[in-house]
Amino acid sequence: MEQYGMSFGFREPYQVLVDSEIIKDADKFKMDLVGGLERTLHGQVKPMITQCSMRHLYAAASEPGVSYLIDKAKTYERRRCDHRPEDFPEPLSNKECLASVVDPKGNKTNKHCYVIASQDLELRKHMRGVMGVPLVYINRSVMIMEPMASATAQNRAREERGKFRAGLKRGSGSLKRKRDDEEGEKDGEEAGDDDAAPKKKWKAKGPKQPNPLAVKKAKKKPEDGTSAAAAGKESKKGPATEGSGLDASEPGTKRKRRRKHSKPVGETESVAAVPVAVAVDDE
Ligand SMILES: [Zn+2]
Repeated sequence: MEQYGMSFGFREPYQVLVDSEIIKDADKFKMDLVGGLERTLHGQVKPMITQCSMRHLYAAASEPGVSYLIDKAKTYERRRCDHRPEDFPEPLSNKECLASVVDPKGNKTNKHCYVIASQDLELRKHMRGVMGVPLVYINRSVMIMEPMASATAQNRAREERGKFRAGLKRGSGSLKRKRDDEEGEKDGEEAGDDDAAPKKKWKAKGPKQPNPLAVKKAKKKPEDGTSAAAAGKESKKGPATEGSGLDASEPGTKRKRRRKHSKPVGETESVAAVPVAVAVDDE
């Protein structure tokens, strides 16, 4: 019940809707129903019985011992289900009646935090589909509370995960940062999208842009050509200086031969090297 308290706000005294059959079975097994419920639920209970369940007991009044049970049931709080005899000549089944009392709108919630104590298998099966309904029954003189139903457990797990995430968000800034980063990324993506439209425009303009680039390249090529031509001139000059250098000294002739070999590989290198050699010679 601690779990139901934390997850669904169950508080003592727990409101337990007992059906007519569990009252009879408790008596059959000589059990104290309310005492058993308090031991099973680990807390104070407020036993309640619907008008329909009460009518089932009255209908069985002729059976031995039932009149005593009726007197006992009269001490329980009567839960008005509004299934009045004038509208319902026959009382609703425990299943139909309790289902309508626990979840009148059929939205699978147990708004009033009822515990169901019923011997009706179908009723308990139905209630497992409603969130947060503790289910109690008697099996061979033993009162049993069903494990939290899967729908309830799943909801509880979901809530706990939510709390865990909330705690993480509050606790550490790193997640916030991550979140901010994610938002930043989103912003970036959005910005990217904004850029994407201009990019499309750029693509549209694209054919025009490559032309200027091509023009520049064309300019560069002529420049390269002129530089190459200049290099050629230099290279032409080079041999002249070389020639002068070579004329100055005999070792130069050997260099000249080497440079002639090296010229095809890279003229500018030889050109650069030669004036230095010449300068050295001049000094
Ligand atoms: Zn009813």
